[in-house]
Amino acid sequence: MRFHVLTIFPEFFEGFKNTGIVSRAIEKGLVDINTVNIRDYATDRHRTVDDVVYGGGPGMLLKPEPIFRAYDDIARDKKPYVLITEPWGRRFDQKFATELAQKDELLIICGRYEGVDERVKSIIDEEVSIGDFILSGGEPAALVIMDAVIRLIPGVVGDSDSLRVDSFSDGLLGYPNYTRPAVFRGMEVPQVLRSGNHRLINLWRKWKQIENTLKKRPDLLEKARLSPEEEKILQAIKKGESFEDFTGNNRV
Ligand code: SAH
Repeated sequence: MRFHVLTIFPEFFEGFKNTGIVSRAIEKGLVDINTVNIRDYATDRHRTVDDVVYGGGPGMLLKPEPIFRAYDDIARDKKPYVLITEPWGRRFDQKFATELAQKDELLIICGRYEGVDERVKSIIDEEVSIGDFILSGGEPAALVIMDAVIRLIPGVVGDSDSLRVDSFSDGLLGYPNYTRPAVFRGMEVPQVLRSGNHRLINLWRKWKQIENTLKKRPDLLEKARLSPEEEKILQAIKKGESFEDFTGNNRV
């Protein structure tokens, strides 16, 4: 999958491209991140990328001409799916990330200052926001979007099971995990995880996912499609039953 990022700060993405899963995906040829400096497409001697706002008001706007020229250059061979970062855009979430992971070529335009000239919207497929707050530029948003999308590309995350158990992948939050030592500062790893009983371990994890989601994100639970077993667990948790009661009663 190919990303093009239009930005006035291409250096912002260097650490991202050279770190962890993303750098390995690039090395493996699964991902290419083409950061394009909008300034390289400016036409005047001073390489101007911004200008004052028509009608008055504070701040500057990114000018349309360099953005369109950069876009024309990229889209000449193949038209990419085009996103622009905007605080009022469609809220980015796991479902949005999954949709974007299906695209071959994605172009993200990063706003700066007060934003971009409205005419840039004529080349945009979707406006995207990463939340109800104001960043000083679209670069952190583009980075968040690319990171979430890249890990969904087949072959990028070595163990694809780890995607399956991520929070939100099935509409529920994830379950808690422990590593060695078994006892640390008096805190013990739950016995069930050391039992070797995989059916019981899976049930405990499912229990924790549902408990976690009910406590922290009840809104997700309302939308989640639960299996009959998950529904039984939810009812037990709501009644105040413990996992031990539940597994005892169900003779697991
Ligand atoms: N004047 C604008 C804010 C501009 S912030 C307003 O009133 O809404 C500068 C740029 O940062 C924006 O053009 C956008 O590209 C980016 N940006 C800011 N907040 C963002 C968010 N929550 N999600 C995505 N991009 C954001």
